[in-house]
Amino acid sequence: MPDYEYDLLVIGSGPAGQRAAIQAAKLDKRVALVERKTVVGGVCINTGTIPSKTLREAVLHLSGYRERGVYGAAYAVKQNITIDDLLFRADHVIRHEVDVTRHQLMRNRVEVLVASASFVDAHTVRLDFIDGRGVRDVTTANAVIATGTHATREGAIPIDGHHIFLSDDILQLDRLPRTLTVVGAGVIGCEYASIFAALGVRVTLIDQRERLLPFVDAEITDALAYHLRQNRVTLRLGESVSQIEPIQEERGTRVKIDLASGKHIITERALYSIGRTGATDTLNLPAAGLEADSRGRIAVNKHYQTKIPHIYAVGDVIGFPSLASTSMEQGRLAACHAFGAEAKSVPELFPYGIYAIPEISMVGRTEEELTQQSIPYEVGKAQYREIARGQIIGDSTGLLKLIFHFETHELLGVHIIGEGASELVHIGQAVMAFGGTIDYFVNTVFNYPTLAECYKTAALDGVNRLRM
Ligand SMILES: Cc1cc2nc3c(=O)[nH]c(=O)nc-3n(C[C@H](O)[C@H](O)[C@H](O)COP(=O)(O)OP(=O)(O)OC[C@H]3O[C@@H](n4cnc5c(N)ncnc54)[C@H](O)[C@@H]3O)c2cc1C
Repeated sequence: MPDYEYDLLVIGSGPAGQRAAIQAAKLDKRVALVERKTVVGGVCINTGTIPSKTLREAVLHLSGYRERGVYGAAYAVKQNITIDDLLFRADHVIRHEVDVTRHQLMRNRVEVLVASASFVDAHTVRLDFIDGRGVRDVTTANAVIATGTHATREGAIPIDGHHIFLSDDILQLDRLPRTLTVVGAGVIGCEYASIFAALGVRVTLIDQRERLLPFVDAEITDALAYHLRQNRVTLRLGESVSQIEPIQEERGTRVKIDLASGKHIITERALYSIGRTGATDTLNLPAAGLEADSRGRIAVNKHYQTKIPHIYAVGDVIGFPSLASTSMEQGRLAACHAFGAEAKSVPELFPYGIYAIPEISMVGRTEEELTQQSIPYEVGKAQYREIARGQIIGDSTGLLKLIFHFETHELLGVHIIGEGASELVHIGQAVMAFGGTIDYFVNTVFNYPTLAECYKTAALDGVNRLRM
């Protein structure tokens, strides 16, 4: 075998790249990780997951939103919340996460190279060092492409990062607008629409699809739509945007959005959030014998190998499900496969967390999917308001719904909307992973008072429905 400088070269320091690099290092391999930004962590830490979740937490705390069910709609921890109040918390968490990540890479002796990477051939990668510090070609036995995505832009949309901005620009906002229009009601669009609405911003949410988040259980998305409307969000579903342009008004620059239906929306700021595109344009993939599809994504097999077997691709750059959680696992699995290390995982049973306000989480199948697959099922539900913990924390609108096989009682899906949904879902996920039934919840004692009790209440409801 030729002598390569590295056993594994990883391109991209987001969750997928980090885990691939650290796993390979733990197998005693010579590993380099190339990152073109001066900070490690990728979209996850620097512009996407961590900032959005921290901003959400800051909004929930400062606006007193969680307590309003108990103390009334006027309750707030701080009046006149500013963008600086929100960014203060985000900066703190981002800095900490970058530091932890850098330390983990260092501790595991992963060599971090601050450069933009592109292929010269299937075993050679060109490193164009940041700040004009030259170019170097390095050779590697294996490579992992973990370059992630960037927010999709369309040529005709005059995105200036200020009046018309992308989710990647969120930390650059100079102030909170009075009105915001979000174009695209995917996960990111719904999350930011609800976060800004909780701050009192008048939000309009536009999507060409007729319903929010079609992959989520319909009862849960109905509940989300209800909450958004309660927070004065105007939903414009089944509407497509024909033009977006900045206009000058007496009050300053505004954004005019024309809809194909003839409606016009004038808004202070617009968040353009129609999806994400794989960051593959500068990788020179053809030199390695690879190509990307029209959305920049790379095709892989079940071991995350591209069509060139020693080059793997993991994380958002391979498309669905495009989550930090699944990206990490893919990175680990790819590195194990590359070096013949055994790794067991059930990545297909991953939970989905949508950090809108209220929070949504799900694992397993929806009623719609089971109906399409002709699988007989029943549901059991628990409303948070029936549970003492729901009353204590002031969430009386949450819902936990179990879907189980009509005959075997096997748990097939868990769908939750409400406080703590993304934590609660893991109980159901564990039961599903072991092929458990809802009888487990019926026969189990839960701490009292907890939201976890919803599982027992929902299971009892399900069993009762079978007797109807
Ligand atoms: C607003 C928002 C909210 C989100 N919320 C959640 C959430 O709540 N939960 C969740 O699980 N997921 C969430 N996600 C998704 C999550 O951020 C991604 O799934 C995750 O970051 C993907 O990790 P990755 O390692 O594939 O890529 P990334 O995190 O995108 O990292 C890729 C890295 O590769 C680098 N790179 C690209 N090209 C090159 C090159 N040629 N040379 C060198 N370096 C290069 C980039 O600079 C970047 O640092 C969210 C995303 C966004 C945008």
